[in-house]
Amino acid sequence: MVLDDLGSSLRGTLDRLQGKTRLDEEDVEEVVREIQRSLIQADVEIDLVMELSDSIEQRALEEEPPGGTTARDFVLRIVYEEMVDLVGESTDLPLEPQTILLAGLQGSGKTTTAAKMAWWFSKKGLRPAVIQTDTFRPGAYDQAKEMAERAEVTFYGDPDADDPVQIARDGLAATEEADIHIVDTAGRHALEEGLIDEIQEIDAVVEPDRSLLVMDAALGQGAKDQAQRFEEAIGIDGVAITKLDGTAKGGGALTAVNETDSSIAFLGTGETVQDVERFEPNGFISRLLG
Ligand code: GDP
Repeated sequence: MVLDDLGSSLRGTLDRLQGKTRLDEEDVEEVVREIQRSLIQADVEIDLVMELSDSIEQRALEEEPPGGTTARDFVLRIVYEEMVDLVGESTDLPLEPQTILLAGLQGSGKTTTAAKMAWWFSKKGLRPAVIQTDTFRPGAYDQAKEMAERAEVTFYGDPDADDPVQIARDGLAATEEADIHIVDTAGRHALEEGLIDEIQEIDAVVEPDRSLLVMDAALGQGAKDQAQRFEEAIGIDGVAITKLDGTAKGGGALTAVNETDSSIAFLGTGETVQDVERFEPNGFISRLLG
């Protein structure tokens, strides 16, 4: 059965439905309340929580459970289907030559994610290159270079240059032999004009096949604004959630996916280049509801 490792209080509520074959209104309300509570705690935006719980409630009350299905399995299936509908499948990433641009605020984990993704593609038999254009954050060049070395992938950066657009242009030219180009960009502490202008200029030069928004799992209410701004500026095709090895559940990513009409591509689960996973809906949904 899907969603085996649910959070204890939702599981408790569902387990109380175990012997039943029909759900009454009170049962549905209790399950819906429990789901709302879990999702709000997981930092999912309130409008989304309400939208989701309304659909679950409506379906659970209106649909007829298929014969032989217990009330518990019936409601669990509805919850799962509605969540999958919202979260979506993993962002499509064909194993073929492509250029990927990473966007996000400073500290979100872009540089780390660039190296992780390069490592991931190299394990799939491709030849990735990381191009570091962050001239804003001191130490970004050294960190990116070191991580690319650990991932054993090609690296391009220029610690003496101060024009990120020129670095991107030179970087693409210098790494022509690579088939996957991952372009890391500078973040800022907040959504400032300079940041948006800069990434738009880099976007125009790089012409990426995909642009991914890198987002800290702990980002809650700020997720909507960030996703909107980057979507307007460069168009977002997918989200990489970082720091899922911490306690944060990553509900902000759901907001971002919803705002950008995209999906989740990668999950970051630690500080080393190997700590990366492709997104898979079941585990993530269980975590949000847990
Ligand atoms: P950037 O400013 O967006 O390039 O962010 P960095 O890649 O420098 O990451 C900021 C901090 O978060 C660094 O200390 C990273 O080691 C850490 N970090 C990034 N991804 C993860 C992750 O998945 N798990 C953990 N625990 N730390 C991470």
